[in-house]
Amino acid sequence: MKVLVIGSGIVGLSTALELALAGHSVRVITRNYEEGSSWVAGGMLAPFSEMLMGDLLDFSLLSLDLYDDYVKRLEEVSRVSLFYEGSSAILRLALTPEERESLEEYARKVEEKGFSVVRLTEAEAREAEPHLGKGVEGAYIFEQEGNVDAERLMDALLFAMENLKVKIEVDDIYKVSLKDRAVGAVVGYKKEYHADFYVLAPGAWARSLMDVPVYPNKGQILRAKGVEISRVIFSGRAYIIPKDGYLLVGATSEDAGFDTRVTLEGARTLTSGALDVVPALADAELVSIRTGFRPATPDEKPVFDLGDNYALLTGHYRNGILWAPATAKMVLDYLETSEVSPYFRVFSPSRFASE
Ligand SMILES: Cc1cc2nc3c(=O)[nH]c(=O)nc-3n(C[C@H](O)[C@H](O)[C@H](O)COP(=O)(O)OP(=O)(O)OC[C@H]3O[C@@H](n4cnc5c(N)ncnc54)[C@H](O)[C@@H]3O)c2cc1C
Repeated sequence: MKVLVIGSGIVGLSTALELALAGHSVRVITRNYEEGSSWVAGGMLAPFSEMLMGDLLDFSLLSLDLYDDYVKRLEEVSRVSLFYEGSSAILRLALTPEERESLEEYARKVEEKGFSVVRLTEAEAREAEPHLGKGVEGAYIFEQEGNVDAERLMDALLFAMENLKVKIEVDDIYKVSLKDRAVGAVVGYKKEYHADFYVLAPGAWARSLMDVPVYPNKGQILRAKGVEISRVIFSGRAYIIPKDGYLLVGATSEDAGFDTRVTLEGARTLTSGALDVVPALADAELVSIRTGFRPATPDEKPVFDLGDNYALLTGHYRNGILWAPATAKMVLDYLETSEVSPYFRVFSPSRFASE
């Protein structure tokens, strides 16, 4: 089948990867390789630390289950080795008694679902991460949580496209011609494109193509060098993520439209949070601060829409790196077996119809 993918973020390229591996003829159109939030993401696979519940947690667990195989497949096709830690990668700190209480309540619910949680006292947390600052009430390790270098993963996806002969073309799509529930064409400034099936994965820009309430949530994220930590340190003040030879410190969450500027306020938020959590970072080298746009929705849930000949995949908000394998598999399963994932119903845009 001829498949056209719009968007070269992790969602579009992961779907292109799975479909190309299954033998479909895939072509990707993107406005800009580098503007996607996927390039700047922290890469935490952290549904428990984010305290997700219900459908969001279930979908996250589905994706976590797929992650080892997804990474293996991608490494094989791209011949790029990913920086990936598949389990117990995150130390979730409680910094106040209230935060400890709500994390404890959450941890008990998670245990009731059969997941294992390791609880650490302040002394144990400090033993695990000697660089921790003062004011730690305790910590949790949720066994299933992982960490992947999102930038390297994106590089690997681009190499995989090349090796699978998936053509990526640059064009700015300004219109998706939709009649009833079928796409007739997608129209770009360079030309008009036709395919048997369309995958629309435009991230935070979805609203300019489809009638969905997706908007950008700006995130600034800092890169530093010079301090070694062994696990992600995740707290309400900041998260600090070890990568191959550097650290990421994240992230701001701003309602600022598509403002790409790094701001002094953003820098202050990131540096003060980081220094509270890991004071030793005071002497670290500040390498860069970058911005990205999380595809956000009013209820912070993704938007999946399956039409007659298209799938719209957007609204991945804070968890697109985590949710990419499960998102791509929904489209693969549909095209291979006609099986419609229940998540197309659960996260359908029809939930916004009355707004
Ligand atoms: C600071 C920060 C930290 C984050 N940390 C994490 C994390 O730790 N873990 C996690 O799971 N998630 C994290 N996220 C969220 C994650 O980055 C996003 O959910 C995910 O990258 C969204 O992927 P996407 O493919 O939908 O969109 P994007 O990566 O934004 O890609 C969209 C693509 O579509 C293209 N496009 C858009 N409109 C058009 C058009 N009209 N024509 C042609 N092309 C178009 C764009 O050029 C772009 O290439 C973070 C996000 C930010 C900003």
